[in-house]
Amino acid sequence: MKNWNFNVGPSQLFDSVSGHLSEAINLGYGSISHRSKAFEKIYQHTDEQLKSLLNIPKENSIFFTGSASEIFERIGQNLIENSSHHLVNGSFSAKFYDYIHSLKLNPTKSEKALGEGFSNDEIVVPENADLIALTQNETSTGVMIDEVYIQNIKKQYPDKILAVDMVSSAPICSLDYGYVDTAFFSVQKCFGMPAGLGVWIVNDAVIEKAKKLESAKKTSGAHHTISDFYKNYKTFQTPCTPNVLFIYVLGKIAEEMNKIGVENIRLESIKKSEILDSMIQSNGKLLQHSVEKINERSKTVRVMNVGDNKNILEFLNKKGLEVGAGYGPNKNTQIRVGIFPAVPVEAYERLSQEVLSFGSLG
Ligand SMILES: *Cc1c(COP(=O)(O)O)cnc(C)c1O
Repeated sequence: MKNWNFNVGPSQLFDSVSGHLSEAINLGYGSISHRSKAFEKIYQHTDEQLKSLLNIPKENSIFFTGSASEIFERIGQNLIENSSHHLVNGSFSAKFYDYIHSLKLNPTKSEKALGEGFSNDEIVVPENADLIALTQNETSTGVMIDEVYIQNIKKQYPDKILAVDMVSSAPICSLDYGYVDTAFFSVQKCFGMPAGLGVWIVNDAVIEKAKKLESAKKTSGAHHTISDFYKNYKTFQTPCTPNVLFIYVLGKIAEEMNKIGVENIRLESIKKSEILDSMIQSNGKLLQHSVEKINERSKTVRVMNVGDNKNILEFLNKKGLEVGAGYGPNKNTQIRVGIFPAVPVEAYERLSQEVLSFGSLG
């Protein structure tokens, strides 16, 4: 029987990744110049496939970095003049805040306890904040922020840049780019690829803001500045030598997703959530939802309280099912299951059966 990796990242790879990679090597893409026509075509293809998959407006630009957390720092260096305001409800949203703090840009935050979201809160953002940052899906706690809530923040603060970390939500949760100025992800979560590529989507307001701050000498850093990215993007090039192989593979994966249709991928992911939710319901003594409010429960990461997680994780591991531990203070008392496209519905059914048989042992 096939082993399955339910980790929330790095996650199960799509079966097709190895074929795309070896094809890329065979085509010589491992050593082409990033100033060549061949590279420009690869970049353009990935750009088009992502725009179609995520419904990103044509006018927006897509840049490639080494990781998502690199983008935390680039946002701080390029887009914040006075300060930023962060919705913090777990480790990744806290990390974004910490990066900005390290840059001495005086971030402020609205903070929730672990396992809680913002659905009942009206966010008050200080007037001098240039940017509002939020995490669509807090991977550490399995809490999501609803799309309508995100839109309302932008309606309330139309003049501030709205930045969305969608690392573990894209392409499962939709995002309306009419309300979002910049969003970013990396490929080792829902895209089923090995880690090492960050994807940064920006609109014209972001480009303008970066230009304005740059001419006022209010930006910092030399690597991957927005103006360098943008100048190069116009011809589908990059400021420095990029991860050509992964940009190619990402284009192929996005193309495959487009063929299936993002709506179908989302529907399948609802089916997987339902399997997990009924697994939790029928093993009530063993597992409880760690996120109480249903409308705050992530569509891509299910987090469960299990008391001590050692035995259940070992049991599942022996069955070839790799499930993640909790994060931070909940490392030993929770388990986390990714609801990602590379893991098929059957795998969730098997997981559910094995959890049931573990429950009957105890
Ligand atoms: C994994 C993750 C990150 C960090 O991504 P890297 O590519 O490792 O930098 C940031 N935010 C969220 C929500 C994540 O899940």
